[in-house]
Amino acid sequence: MAEMHTGVGRQRGAQPWPRPRRIATVSVHTSPLHQPGTGDAGGMNVYILEVARRLAEADVEVEIFTRATSGDLPRVVEVAPGVQVRHITAGPLEGLTKEELPGQLCAFTAGVLRAEAARAPGYYDLIHSHYWLSGQVGWLARDRWGVPLVHSAHTLAKVKNAQLAAGDRPEPKARVIGEEQVVAEADRLVANTRVEARDLISRYDADPDRVTVVQPGVDLDRFRPAGGDRDAAVHAARRRLGLPSTGYVVAFVGRIQPLKAPDVLIRAVAALRDRDPLLADELTVVVVGGPSGSGLDRPTALIELAASLGVADRVRFLPPQTGDDLPAVYRAADLVAVPSYNESFGLVALEAQACGTPVLAAAVGGLVTAVRDQGSGVLIDGHRPDDWAAALCRLLPDRDRRAVLSRGAERHARNFSWHRTAAGLLSVYGATIAEHRARLTARLAADPVLSCSW
Ligand code: UDP
Repeated sequence: MAEMHTGVGRQRGAQPWPRPRRIATVSVHTSPLHQPGTGDAGGMNVYILEVARRLAEADVEVEIFTRATSGDLPRVVEVAPGVQVRHITAGPLEGLTKEELPGQLCAFTAGVLRAEAARAPGYYDLIHSHYWLSGQVGWLARDRWGVPLVHSAHTLAKVKNAQLAAGDRPEPKARVIGEEQVVAEADRLVANTRVEARDLISRYDADPDRVTVVQPGVDLDRFRPAGGDRDAAVHAARRRLGLPSTGYVVAFVGRIQPLKAPDVLIRAVAALRDRDPLLADELTVVVVGGPSGSGLDRPTALIELAASLGVADRVRFLPPQTGDDLPAVYRAADLVAVPSYNESFGLVALEAQACGTPVLAAAVGGLVTAVRDQGSGVLIDGHRPDDWAAALCRLLPDRDRRAVLSRGAERHARNFSWHRTAAGLLSVYGATIAEHRARLTARLAADPVLSCSW
């Protein structure tokens, strides 16, 4: 397993890696044009768009293939210079769930192959697929185009199933098999963290030499602490969101589904009320995001839970916010809670810290990397509401401790940026193209018939 946090752009002591001119990015089930924080749109959408922008700035064109889900959008949308989103028709525009998409993969792949066939030969130098559905498409296109396939899983069914929230639906066997196939087929696998790399190797039998860790990033220009008077900035942010200007605010930001465990935070407020009623009365929990995944089965479940626990007066719900509006949410909060059962990384944790807000996170998956325990936030083992209430009880009234963590959070977030992620990916792309060419050359040399017909 190799690690590429930084812009390593060369083979050691040798020629620079070949640089792709143009890559085909595949994101079947969700478009970077969708609003993240609801439905199927989340960190992966942000990742794809942010990385594509940085690659284009480095003169690598990116074409993102995604399934058309609206008749309002043109077939091709230029989202930034050098970054295009291409909508592929595969099944109806509306009404299909992610679980139904495997039935549309053939149509989607045909659309991708046709789009490429209309281009000059050798148009794309490499395919980067995101999530297993896209890996299935990329695997076929790779064989057809004779270019390498780099794959990012983002989440893994076996990991998710091992850490399911009580009552949540397990991921189906078809996904597990599909993921195993993509892991076996991809020329290179990109993992967000060492934890994910280990999962790919131990649970999916990935070849360690084909797994590279490239950490995701954060937009440090957008997500930064408010300048000037911090208290004034907190008040302004709270006013803007309609939150109380005094008292404590803890924010949850993300897709509302059992895996993300916003219910743990609400249960913790109820536990806090038993433990320290005065503190609980000073606390507002703000939940930002929309229903997603199995959370769509009962979109009002959290509201009902807060009411049934008698803490409805302490919880505010806000719809998904745009990237430009999110810094105000993070700045308005004394703490951001990420109680997920699993996270491949946890961009929300990083964004909050970049704004100077410490994070209270479950010690799972990528959150162990995204948050420095006791340095930029606090990691909690497990999901017992009492443990989360105890952490709130310790941290909220301790302004000095929170100030130390806030400074640590800013420092920690500065270790990550989308430029670094793009630079790491460029190294992976270059190395993968070089290996691919070397394999091709070796095959040609070993096979005189192939060599003649070439
Ligand atoms: N997000 C957003 N608006 C919202 C909620 C979330 O733009 O109302 C974005 C957030 O900024 C982050 C992403 O959605 O970049 C969520 O990523 P994360 O890795 O935390 O979770 P995922 O959705 O990938 O499970």
